Amino acid sequence: AWPGRKRRWGGSDENGASRKPVACPFYKKIPGTPFTVDAFRYGAVEGCSAYFLSHFHCDHYGGLTKKWCRGPIYCTALTARLVKMLLSIDSAYVCPLELDTEYVIDGVKVTFLEANHCPGAALIHFRLSDGKTYLHTGDFRASKSMQLHPLLQTGRISLLYLDTTYCNPKYKFPPQEDVIDFVVRTAQRYLKKQPKTLIVVGAYSIGKENVYLAISQALEVPIYTDASRRRILHSFGWPDLSKRISSCNQSSPLHVLPLASLQHEELEEVLGDS
Ligand SMILES: [Zn+2]
Repeated sequence: AWPGRKRRWGGSDENGASRKPVACPFYKKIPGTPFTVDAFRYGAVEGCSAYFLSHFHCDHYGGLTKKWCRGPIYCTALTARLVKMLLSIDSAYVCPLELDTEYVIDGVKVTFLEANHCPGAALIHFRLSDGKTYLHTGDFRASKSMQLHPLLQTGRISLLYLDTTYCNPKYKFPPQEDVIDFVVRTAQRYLKKQPKTLIVVGAYSIGKENVYLAISQALEVPIYTDASRRRILHSFGWPDLSKRISSCNQSSPLHVLPLASLQHEELEEVLGDS
């Protein structure tokens, strides 16, 4: 993720004039292989015969459209479902891979590891026939269990592709469990004080599920969200989440909204409707 950075997009500028796509940066190419990671907005990348997608966030899949025909897209099964459902990519190009399973692709051993980011997000581990190993993180959240993964415990990583917004000691985040626990306790406290409190969680199309699922479980209330997000959440195939999703905004004090709508006027409207 690159918040606050001005992105350079291929395609057309503000005047609608079409521009040549920018060249694929080196950090999206895996040396000694015909692979790229999260490189869909650079037109046809020379020498690339397999395109890896780390997760389904638009700053990573940007450039993928239903016209895609440049080569196979390797991603996790959950990401594969989203790519087909939301971007209408021809399924002939979508190649789902299981986590923690070694695949040989173009002579390279490839393993996806849980990235602890959004649903379907993976770290990608490449082992070349010359023994070199590369780890491309995509967006991820480091954790103890990740550090203990056998692939990261044994052997060296020759080159680490680190995609991180917060690589600075001034960012010291507590473990995710502590954050979720805090959010749940805060929601409970406010509801106790004012039973009509509306709890709003802002989220991109995917992400934050662990937060609102925990609130829903602790408060024993359904999760209300709009039809497009309901479709996405059901596609995860997570029974615990699916059974809590509601299409009725009156049914729950817990609403999940697009992140962009967490503004004062919009929230006032939401509060008025619920
Ligand atoms: Zn992301």
